[in-house]
Amino acid sequence: MKPALRAIPPGLHFVSTPIGAARDITLRALDVLAGADVLVAEDTRTLRHLMEIHGIPLNGRPLIAYHDHSGEGQMQRLVGLLAEGRSLAYASEAGTPLISDPGFELARAVAAAGLPMSAAPGPCAAICALTLSGLPSDRFFFAGFPPAAQGARRSFLTELAGVQATLICYESPKRLAALLADMAVAMGGSRQAVVCRELTKRFEEVLRGSLDQLAAEIGARDIKGEIVVLVDRAPPAEASEARIGEALDAALKTMSVKDAATFVSQTLGVSRKIVYRIALDRSQG
Ligand code: SAM
Repeated sequence: MKPALRAIPPGLHFVSTPIGAARDITLRALDVLAGADVLVAEDTRTLRHLMEIHGIPLNGRPLIAYHDHSGEGQMQRLVGLLAEGRSLAYASEAGTPLISDPGFELARAVAAAGLPMSAAPGPCAAICALTLSGLPSDRFFFAGFPPAAQGARRSFLTELAGVQATLICYESPKRLAALLADMAVAMGGSRQAVVCRELTKRFEEVLRGSLDQLAAEIGARDIKGEIVVLVDRAPPAEASEARIGEALDAALKTMSVKDAATFVSQTLGVSRKIVYRIALDRSQG
């Protein structure tokens, strides 16, 4: 095995690569690709091409194909190289490894073997889309690719409908219209959503609207390219008077009427005035 141009520490180094614009590679990613003893890739041709663009020679170093279905033998081969003290750079086809991409099985095996591991972070379509969406970013739920079969997809969306976070999904352009239509059914057509297409590329596009509007717009177009779909969180459920009463009964055991009303209104997200009126009725009755 020939030495690398610039040595990097032994261990597995996950490398994030561009999701469109080749210049989105980080300087650290380039260092890792230039310095690793062994290069490992989901698609060896894509990595070789990226390295050519950035002028990084392979210089006789091995370039090995690996994905999560490569099998136990291939994974143990990589873990063996790490145990010998080699440095390995791993890149998936695009973006961040493990994010709807291979790498998880390898990370688990390396962690279990107690071998060193690091990540050179960088592009990720989900994060890029969240940044551009204009939807709340305080809490988000990355759901990956929804199932392709309609029945499974509808159950998947029904499960997601109540999640109190911005939802993020990846989808293929040919299933996008069907996904938006199913989302409108499962989550309500008035929920706000965003479709991000071809991020960081020449035909980048961000479409915003309700699920009903987007389903109609996308249904009427021939959509191509790579897609991320984001949906705003569900509005807070309206608490019934019975539910408020129940919460107040529990709170009034240890709190004054005033404190119980404040506590329940904050917990259930209901106006304090309404809760206070119900609390007074209950404390007097
Ligand atoms: N590991 C990648 C990441 O970090 O985003 C994701 C890999 S996954 C196999 C590929 C999917 O990511 C695409 O089908 C699309 O949903 C999304 N994606 C990747 N690049 C994109 C881009 N430039 N614009 C929009 N979506 C993209």
